Amino acid sequence: MEINWLQEAQKRKEMLLEDLSELLRINSVRDIEHQTDEYPLGAGPALALKKVLSFGERDGFRVKNIDNLAGHIEYGEETAEALGILGHVDVVPPGEGWATDPFEPIIKEGKLFARGSSDDKGPCIAAYYGMKIIKELQLSTSKKIRFIFGTDEESEWIGIHRYMEKEEMPAFGFSPDANFPIINGEKGILSFELSFTLKEEKADKMQLKRFSSGLRANMVPSEAIAVLEIPDLEKLSSLETGYTKYLDDKKLKGTFEYKGGGTYGRILEKGCAYGSLFPGRENVMHQPNEYMYVEDILKATAIYAEAIYRLVK
Ligand SMILES: [Zn+2]
Repeated sequence: MEINWLQEAQKRKEMLLEDLSELLRINSVRDIEHQTDEYPLGAGPALALKKVLSFGERDGFRVKNIDNLAGHIEYGEETAEALGILGHVDVVPPGEGWATDPFEPIIKEGKLFARGSSDDKGPCIAAYYGMKIIKELQLSTSKKIRFIFGTDEESEWIGIHRYMEKEEMPAFGFSPDANFPIINGEKGILSFELSFTLKEEKADKMQLKRFSSGLRANMVPSEAIAVLEIPDLEKLSSLETGYTKYLDDKKLKGTFEYKGGGTYGRILEKGCAYGSLFPGRENVMHQPNEYMYVEDILKATAIYAEAIYRLVK
């Protein structure tokens, strides 16, 4: 049977976008300050997990919630070997600089704006619809598909670690949490904090009182704040000129791009990060005004459906 995967994805566009929007509306930033026994990472990540699992239940899959920290949606013969798909429903904090509400998804010029649209709720829903298409077309498979969701990927991986204590991790699979075509070697991560002691200056001199930037180690800082004490206010305009010149000289406008690494893909014995940022597309993950092209979400859905099917048939 010849399957037109893109057509199958497009047929489900409305429902897919509805599900994705529901998920994006949940602020699932780790909120450990408000943890409870029920919600070890705060309510948001758990509510996002419950939401995604409710889609699985609605669509007739086997579903499991592990302590509100992780969970899975499964399809296929229970005893068969499993293909693992690993995604996460937590997001990094929105930070400053958004033109619209980061938790009220909106489509403008074909782009779906919301925190998590490209990392990782958009790719998760695309891959989920991939497995949904396979189920709805009643394609026969020799392996089962296990889609595992974590809730703390952006920090300490508490969710996925709990999952591995309680459930069996499939030996092979992929994580829809990076770029297409594929990332087959993930780099390590080193997080560190830089600090320095401020120099005491004479009272008549300008003094740096405070400097801070960034909310989390894995976020692109949207701003940096320096608080200066300036005894001589006439120096203000020269300071401004100097600052502008510095930016010009250093050509401090530009784009910074990072690629791959740090996904759940490396948990799997044989696994990789796979999508769903397309080549040539701007990487806006962890940045203000994060978006994903609706067209790309559907294309990714088709790619995941076909890839998953080829891996389990
Ligand atoms: Zn991610």
